[in-house]
Amino acid sequence: MQAKRDATLLWLKEQEDAGIDIVSDGEQSRQHFVHGFLEFVDGIDFDHKVKMGIRNNRYDAMVPVVVGPLRLKGRVHQAESRLLRFHTNKKIKMTLPGPMTIVDTVADRHYGDRAELAMAFAALLNEEARALEKEGVDVIQFDEPAFNVYMQEVKTWGIAALELAARGLRCATCVHICYGYGIKANLDWKATLGGEWRQYEEIFPVLAKSRIDQVSLECIHSKVPLELLKLLKGKDVLIGVIDVASDRIETPEEVSAVIKKASKYVPKKHLFPCTNCGMAPMGRDIALAKLKALAAGAALARKR
Ligand code: ZN
Repeated sequence: MQAKRDATLLWLKEQEDAGIDIVSDGEQSRQHFVHGFLEFVDGIDFDHKVKMGIRNNRYDAMVPVVVGPLRLKGRVHQAESRLLRFHTNKKIKMTLPGPMTIVDTVADRHYGDRAELAMAFAALLNEEARALEKEGVDVIQFDEPAFNVYMQEVKTWGIAALELAARGLRCATCVHICYGYGIKANLDWKATLGGEWRQYEEIFPVLAKSRIDQVSLECIHSKVPLELLKLLKGKDVLIGVIDVASDRIETPEEVSAVIKKASKYVPKKHLFPCTNCGMAPMGRDIALAKLKALAAGAALARKR
């Protein structure tokens, strides 16, 4: 507990010193972006995990099981949000898993319907999100990597569940979608998608009509054609300009070049440079150098 607190404070300070405008807890307190939330949910059996194909059977994972009605056991991120709010005057951001991605990362032995299960999780996410907002969190992001896998379901219930998770929030709300990192199955899958990744063409127009304020996605070294960003008209777009899957440090010029390219499709007031996929685990010096490259590249782009 103390070590997590220390690590969170340290990375808060490093983000500030690097020149990051909207800071986070650096995800120092969570092991896994979905399981970390599920540990706070009643109705989930973590003791008898089962093997299940996830992301449309892209890979097998050992997943916990939904065995009864879902209920929050208590607060999920209160310690981190209070710590951040007390120690910084910058805007602060917290992340939660999105309902569709949670549904795709558990085995269900109780609800029997993916949409219904998503709505049940969305209600819990909303409870936590409202509490985070009360604690002074400025941006709440839902991570939905499942959104480029189940494009049809995104339209029939994915966005509805996301909006339920964000219901009543006055702080900025964000959804992060991405093609996944970290494991070989994701890399292999991406190799099958061809030279242009156009999955988002189907869901961006629906996202643009949703009540979510911001969309965060990977741009540097990504095969998503940036012209698709036009389909997010009216939304803030968080442009990934730092590759979290490589140890090479981006130069400010490279970062600025991606921002320039994206600015052809996103008005400046809606464009926020960030990393491709949150604060991924990597070597400490590399993480720090990449944070600095992000801030320096954004500053260079502003000057130009
Ligand atoms: Zn991601």
